[in-house]
Amino acid sequence: MQDEIVKSEKIKMIGEMAASVAHEIRNPLTTVRGFIQLFGNANLEPDKKEIYQKICLDELDRAQLIITDYLTLAKPDPDIVEKINVNGELDYLSNVLLTYANYNRIQVDKTPSENNDLCILGDRYKFRQALINIGKNAIEAMNQGGSLRLKAFLRHDGVVMIISDTGAGMTPEQVKRLGTPFYSTKEKGTGLGTMVSFGIIKKMDGKIEIESEPGKGTTYTLLFPAAE
Ligand code: ADP
Ligand code: MG
Repeated sequence: MQDEIVKSEKIKMIGEMAASVAHEIRNPLTTVRGFIQLFGNANLEPDKKEIYQKICLDELDRAQLIITDYLTLAKPDPDIVEKINVNGELDYLSNVLLTYANYNRIQVDKTPSENNDLCILGDRYKFRQALINIGKNAIEAMNQGGSLRLKAFLRHDGVVMIISDTGAGMTPEQVKRLGTPFYSTKEKGTGLGTMVSFGIIKKMDGKIEIESEPGKGTTYTLLFPAAE
């Protein structure tokens, strides 16, 4: 009897993990697909091509890392802690999100920190995964077009990163459900993106604040301890 319970719990967990892996692999695949389409454009400048190629390779590496991550999920995972340059990640994020934004008439505004050396601590690839999930939701909320704002700066209490959209917005009840598994209002959604993001951010001692208004848009304010 006890064995049966343990077995069914395990099957349930494996199923949930598979769904989550599929979700996280889809993001890099969509990005790479977008760039390969851009490569077909004869007017593409050579230096742009080089940047896009680098992003494709990075994204494929990320997909591979995600698979490795989930396969080793059962083992205690000693998280990598490295210095992450905030402006560098803001650049990376805006480049990745531009491929999604191009489809939907979305303008991307980026305001990097005045301090180019501003850093936080964490696992770079996981952090990217967290930001891309949040940014992708922002773009998906603006299917009539809109503007996506990405911002980073140092405040008295830490490093702030802001991701804000002028999309559909959410009611307070919907905001409360963010980060819980399998909550999705999308036809093809899995409801795992925010759960994965929030988990990564909390592991970095980050704080998440969400302001949202239906019909107006949503602002994510992330706060991290600054790295020395
Ligand atoms: P998925 O994107 O697969 O639906 P997520 O966990 O990423 O799953 O998001 C859960 C839900 O939260 C979305 O389906 C959507 O309803 C809502 N949501 C998240 N971010 C935003 C946003 N920026 N604007 C409006 N709704 C959002
Ligand atoms: Mg999502």
